[in-house]
Amino acid sequence: MYDLLIRNGKLVTPETVLEANVAVKDGKVAAILSPDAEAPAAKVLDAKGLYVFPGAIDTHAHLNEPGYEWREDYAHATAAAAVGGYTTVIDMPLQNEPAMTTAALFDRKVEMVGPHACTDYCLWGGLVPDNFGELEALHKKGCVAFKSFIGPVSSDYAPLNYGQAYEAMQIIASFGGRAGFHCEDFSMIRHTEQRMKDAGRLDWQAFLDSRPVAAEMLATVDIIELAKATGCKAHICHVSSPDVAEKILQAQQEGYDITAETCTHYLSMTDKDVLENGPMFKCAPPLRSQEEVDRLWKYVENGTFAGIASDHSPCSKEEKYTEIMGQKIETVFDVWGGISGIQSGMQVAFYEGCVKRGISPCVLAGAMAEKPAKAFGIYGKKGALLPGFDADIVLLDPQKEWEITAESLLYKNKISAFVGKKGTGMPVCTVLRGEVVAEDGRFTGTQGYGELVCPVE
Ligand SMILES: [Zn+2]
Repeated sequence: MYDLLIRNGKLVTPETVLEANVAVKDGKVAAILSPDAEAPAAKVLDAKGLYVFPGAIDTHAHLNEPGYEWREDYAHATAAAAVGGYTTVIDMPLQNEPAMTTAALFDRKVEMVGPHACTDYCLWGGLVPDNFGELEALHKKGCVAFKSFIGPVSSDYAPLNYGQAYEAMQIIASFGGRAGFHCEDFSMIRHTEQRMKDAGRLDWQAFLDSRPVAAEMLATVDIIELAKATGCKAHICHVSSPDVAEKILQAQQEGYDITAETCTHYLSMTDKDVLENGPMFKCAPPLRSQEEVDRLWKYVENGTFAGIASDHSPCSKEEKYTEIMGQKIETVFDVWGGISGIQSGMQVAFYEGCVKRGISPCVLAGAMAEKPAKAFGIYGKKGALLPGFDADIVLLDPQKEWEITAESLLYKNKISAFVGKKGTGMPVCTVLRGEVVAEDGRFTGTQGYGELVCPVE
């Protein structure tokens, strides 16, 4: 007797879509069965007309706890993730107070956030100039990768210069870890931003001009070279440009273990949104042109990306329009940069990719589940609907029409650049380790059911 049987659905794997039933026992996938096989189960979900996806993995999110709970917290963000189809969230170490840069802070964080997690979660470890001595201990605790910045970052989290990145990658390579980078060249961004200010250019075009693709390209190419030199596994965060993706693909084809993610907003929004609507669409790297968005999808399709992340970067409405922590916003350069999107990632990716561009759903099963699980060392537990894997399952209705409204968002701050977006194809049921945790836009699970996931040995 199985605990759960999902029947009549169309099972989506990275290779194919097939009519199959999924049988679950003790929170794991027990068997993939032909539709007419006898399979008694305590609970049956009828997935007629629905796609049955492996639970998506958000490789990049800022859940802000502990420290900035007024922006976001685990209870809100992971409930939103569950509703949207992300069953595992990989949380960033910054926008924490203090940033999660030591083994002791790892323990403290898990103790604080664990009771509120609604999805499973992994932790990125901090990588800043003064914590190189903690990296191996963080790795042993269970961090799936280390996050640093090659470029300007808010003051509570210092960026690395290339010498420091070289040293850190030598250390991380010695224990087989992965180093992840926000790639925008520091000196170029600083100088170009100053040029804009000196010229009196404080409009949204100036913001876009201050963060050109060339800055993203320079930092990415340099990190690729450091990965080659050190043998360190690298991850390029939130790639916004298809030309940058091409460089990463070339390095992958040369045999280097360099993974990358893009984000839903880079696949669905453009520089025009920034020019027309300003603050809500500010993020870094910035949104690019429609032509680049269309080309970026080619790199999702050809498998360059191990993750379509949210880079969920919540803030209050005031931080977009009036002031940030007591500092008045005077120009576009002061506005909080970041887009909240953890709830809408999968539906927007499905609509933009599968509905509008005719891409196979198999591509999303690869880019949002299998590849990220492999990149972050949790494949075998997460990332596929195969016997023995966690039964993390998303039922997606390809016909269901949606419009994202502020009221539908479960975030602490119900603001997002995605509000107003419309489309077709929506997650309607999310299963985490065999338990239904979300249905039709509502979180129905239990806070604290989410577990910390460490790399599979
Ligand atoms: Zn981020």
